[in-house]
Amino acid sequence: MADLYCRGCGAKIQSTDPGQFGYVPEHLLGQDSVICQRCFRMIHYGRHELGAVKADQALQAIAQGLDWASGVVLVVDILDFESGLPPEFLRLLGDRELLLAVNKVDLLPAQTPLPEVEVWVRRRLKSLGLSRVDVRLMSALTGYGFPALADAVAELGGRVLFVGVTNVGKSSILERLLTMRIGGGQRKGIKPTVSPYPGTTVSVSQWQGSGLTFADSPGFVPQGRISDLVDAEWAVKIIPHRSLTSHLYPVSPGDLVLIEGLCVVECVEAGENGLLLGFTGSGVRWQKSSRKHLDKWKGKGPAFARWDERTVSLKAGEDLVVSGLGWVSARKAPFRLRLHVPAGVKHFIRPNLIGPKI
Ligand code: GDP
Repeated sequence: MADLYCRGCGAKIQSTDPGQFGYVPEHLLGQDSVICQRCFRMIHYGRHELGAVKADQALQAIAQGLDWASGVVLVVDILDFESGLPPEFLRLLGDRELLLAVNKVDLLPAQTPLPEVEVWVRRRLKSLGLSRVDVRLMSALTGYGFPALADAVAELGGRVLFVGVTNVGKSSILERLLTMRIGGGQRKGIKPTVSPYPGTTVSVSQWQGSGLTFADSPGFVPQGRISDLVDAEWAVKIIPHRSLTSHLYPVSPGDLVLIEGLCVVECVEAGENGLLLGFTGSGVRWQKSSRKHLDKWKGKGPAFARWDERTVSLKAGEDLVVSGLGWVSARKAPFRLRLHVPAGVKHFIRPNLIGPKI
């Protein structure tokens, strides 16, 4: 019998080991279109079993997909933009032209002007040295931007591969495209498995569209995202699922602005009338406190064994991004801050994404 692959996550189907990807009980084999037990339980019961695909397995699958593809759609999450473009992942993509699908724009505050966000994205790409990139803003949740994406995808040739770091919405975008004319209007049947947990797609899985073939790939596992260092329950709290929340604090030296157990921003120096504006998903709790309570706040939450301390300078109108969590934006004045994050978590400084640009 020819090898079968799970239609949800791309894993090779097997009936010998329920503890490995691709398991289907033997009596369910033989159907034309099969889905593995892990995807079935994820879709029907929201259960997350067997953990995430391993980073090296994902890498191998992405490399195979790139050899096969005539065009590549790179998906990033607007809320975690920098973490979606790690240099080692971009090296893997080489210098081929990319269509950048900037997903989850529905999570930006409602009044955010999207044309300004697009300008911001283009400037960020330029500063990251990425020039051969065509940009589309979109939301797989609401359908925003899909007609424009479909037109751009149609230009990519007959074999279109979706790549990106884990959890940015690759499977969700593909699922929606498959329901459109370009995807052959597939409204029923098995779809790519969408889940709130990183690392669900195991291997490249192909889908026949109208005159072209789509392929979903496992997410590249980036280093330094806090959401990948916590267990699945905490990851679901940290990863924004509804519109971002914002928290505005007047801040002076000695003040702490923090997210319990995950990140502390300590003010070392502040310009006059300086404000810090924090953005995250609504599942985490912000606080303002003072230096003497630092250890208490660090001890709450997932309880990391080791923390790093980094001193950073922010100009007014710059964001300090904590990878996989959110950011604080300096308003009205410059700051010198001490950032306390669990060891290994990356941070970035960038021009502000939200609000008037300086
Ligand atoms: P993948 O790992 O890149 O294939 O990502 P998935 O498609 O599995 O999506 C990861 C999570 O993000 C799931 O919880 C999705 O429901 C959610 N998601 C995907 N696209 C969007 C979007 O446009 N907006 C919002 N709010 N959530 C999204």
